[in-house]
Amino acid sequence: MKKNPYAQIIVDVPTMQTNQPYTYEIPDYMLDTVKPGMRVEVPFGHRHVMGFIIALSNKELGDEIQLKKIIKTLDISPVLNSELLQLSEYLAKETFAFRISILQTMLPTALKANYQLKIKIVGEISSEIQQVVFNGLNELVLDAGNVQNKDMMLFSKLKREGKIEVIPKISNKSSVKKQLAYKFSNEKKFLDQEKQHIQKRAAKQHLILDFILAHLGETWTKKELQDMLAISPASLNDAASKKWLTKTTVELLRNPLSDMQVKPTEPIPLNIEQKLAYEQILLAAEKQIYQPFLLEGITGSGKTEVYLQVAQNVFEQGKTTLFLVPEISLTPQMVRRVKSRFGGQTAVLHSGLSDGERYDEWRRIERGEVKIVVGARSAVFAPLDNLGLIIVDEEHETTYKQNDNPRYNARDVALWRGAYHHIPVILGSATPSLESRARAHRNIYQFLKLNKRAGDAKLPKVTIVDMKDTLSNYPETDFSEQLREALKERLIHREQSVLMLNRRGFSSFVMCRDCGYVPRDPNCNLAMTLHMDTKTLKCHYCGYEESIPHICPNCHSNRIRYYGTGTEKVEKELQTLFPEARIIRLDQDTTRKKGSMDKLLTQFGDHKADILLGTQMIAKGLDFPDVTLVGVLNADTSLGLPDFHASERTFQLLTQVSGRAGRGEKKGEVIVQTFNPAHYAIRYASKHDYEGFYRQEMSVRHLGNYPPYYYTVQIQASHTEENVVAKQMTQIGRWLKNNTNDDVILLGPSPKPIAKLRNKYFFQIILKFKQRESLDDLLEELNFRAQKAKDGLQIMIDRDPNSFL
Ligand code: ADP
Ligand code: ZN
Repeated sequence: MKKNPYAQIIVDVPTMQTNQPYTYEIPDYMLDTVKPGMRVEVPFGHRHVMGFIIALSNKELGDEIQLKKIIKTLDISPVLNSELLQLSEYLAKETFAFRISILQTMLPTALKANYQLKIKIVGEISSEIQQVVFNGLNELVLDAGNVQNKDMMLFSKLKREGKIEVIPKISNKSSVKKQLAYKFSNEKKFLDQEKQHIQKRAAKQHLILDFILAHLGETWTKKELQDMLAISPASLNDAASKKWLTKTTVELLRNPLSDMQVKPTEPIPLNIEQKLAYEQILLAAEKQIYQPFLLEGITGSGKTEVYLQVAQNVFEQGKTTLFLVPEISLTPQMVRRVKSRFGGQTAVLHSGLSDGERYDEWRRIERGEVKIVVGARSAVFAPLDNLGLIIVDEEHETTYKQNDNPRYNARDVALWRGAYHHIPVILGSATPSLESRARAHRNIYQFLKLNKRAGDAKLPKVTIVDMKDTLSNYPETDFSEQLREALKERLIHREQSVLMLNRRGFSSFVMCRDCGYVPRDPNCNLAMTLHMDTKTLKCHYCGYEESIPHICPNCHSNRIRYYGTGTEKVEKELQTLFPEARIIRLDQDTTRKKGSMDKLLTQFGDHKADILLGTQMIAKGLDFPDVTLVGVLNADTSLGLPDFHASERTFQLLTQVSGRAGRGEKKGEVIVQTFNPAHYAIRYASKHDYEGFYRQEMSVRHLGNYPPYYYTVQIQASHTEENVVAKQMTQIGRWLKNNTNDDVILLGPSPKPIAKLRNKYFFQIILKFKQRESLDDLLEELNFRAQKAKDGLQIMIDRDPNSFL
């Protein structure tokens, strides 16, 4: 009987069959070093693979059980703590992903960037391939992420034929920058003696020795010492040879915020509403209980001030804060505000950082050098041990959900971590997701509301303009009389305007230009999508299809047609209307180059332009005090989304873009052009009335059996051949139908709205059900089968999808 602990290891072999911990023996000499959360190299099958130790167990195993041994450890200390290891188990189940994929996702890229594959020729291979692909050699080492598709195909063919072996190669070179440094001796007696012996005139040596005596045992970089003492490398080498100090290296941390100049700010005295929210949250923090809060408050109502002051208090209790924001590159102001309170003890994690910078920030966090971490989605895995508070700002934002594997939602992960640490979690928004607002209604989240703007700024007045009137006079324009007048005013008074062209998703739907009618399907009450190839309108939930109408069923006009316009066309018309206006256009074309968005926005901020024309990317986070007019050219496109979120997204977008007007002292005005002036999403947004919108939208969701009344899961399949996906999905649909109760609603299979993408056909099935966990086993089984699907068929399962597009 052995008494050593065994290691439970998740191996880097992402298949369904291997998605479980394997038990390995720990060699005696490793017993002291091996810890959960470390990566190791282990034998698996005939090769060596990387694996994460997730636990050590002392369970006694019989002598007859032969275990394989860990070959070597790849980390000096654990890269994941026990909380994250535990979280990975929950997330794998929740997102239908392999546990190994989750563990990899939690790590900063720098720790996995050098993962390589060794491809070794073991059979007969044509000399041409050996020359061209293998450079005439017998093996090849490639970065796993960089293998070309063409080569991948070739390799998988060769592998099937048994002609090559593919071996993952472990290398763990991370991009820490090292700097030469010196560690001082801490033997005071010895140094004192040395001091007696050096000659009086050896001034440099006295200087060094005195400095060492004042900093016994410390480590200083070469650069620091040279700057401080003005000494030569030779003197340092001399000191080293006398054993006063020893040469070493230190890691140089690159701080991505170091060049952001921020003046410290003081907390602002809170108003009554803010104070109430603040106290409730602190109460939970003091009692050390898990409590989610929904903090609902219009833009400018002082939510951020509440976050910062709670974080400050939590910090005074010796704890740290995790602060999630939707996308940092759009919210540099937020980073600035956090830094103005927490200074150098702020860590920032976002997609704009290089792998090295990200890794540096990650390690500062791990070493406990920061009070607060601000970051986008993946920052939710920041290795903070001593969490006291989690904030999710703009909690309704869809970017919190990752659209690729693993499809986790950072908001849900935040709640999980809040429960783990017994701490408050603040979900903040001006326009909460219906799911969160409904949970607040049922007291699952504690509801906190800020009703007024905190400073002096007033909410802008919003005018809705019916474009049907405009188009009866000027059939081709994108600008109503009202909007033209308002723009002219601004140009005369040298004030700035922002114009938004709503291009969210789709323009391929049909709308009547006389009455605003959008054809909807009778089963799901969703806008149908235009298909020019078949000249039909289709519903992508249930597959309903009808021919394109030529006469509007509502008003009998014949001006029912597809709807859409582009930024370039609008820019041209704008320039014709106002030849003297300086216009900046912000869309995917003008912002493709890195940094170009920043540059354009800075120009606008510096008053180098009068009008900023852009897609919805301008709605977020921009803060220009001199903008007094915001125009929304077409509020309808997002209403035409074939998705049950259409009204919610429209409301959010209009609310957000309206918040861009009148942020300074001057009063702001918003003009919303629409063909649907009576639509509730547009009406409530114009009145800044979230609660009114919420009530009406809830009844719509109730009637349509949509979230938050039902949970949804999307099952999607793709293949290069349409009949292969169609057939498979029909089978899956039948299998699901046979294995679920009547209270589960199954829609489809049907082609997706964007049915063909990169030469692949996409089909989907939607499941709607009442009990969140009720389908877990079934979906698990489906996932298991799906992962074994062959011949290029790809199946994926998405829980609570953002959209069905
Ligand atoms: P939100 O996060 O809800 O958009 P902020 O916290 O950014 O709101 O506050 C909006 C503006 O009002 C900021 O300029 C902020 O400094 C200011 N502010 C916040 N709280 C107060 C307060 N209690 N008194 C005066 N001004 C405040
Ligand atoms: Zn339908």
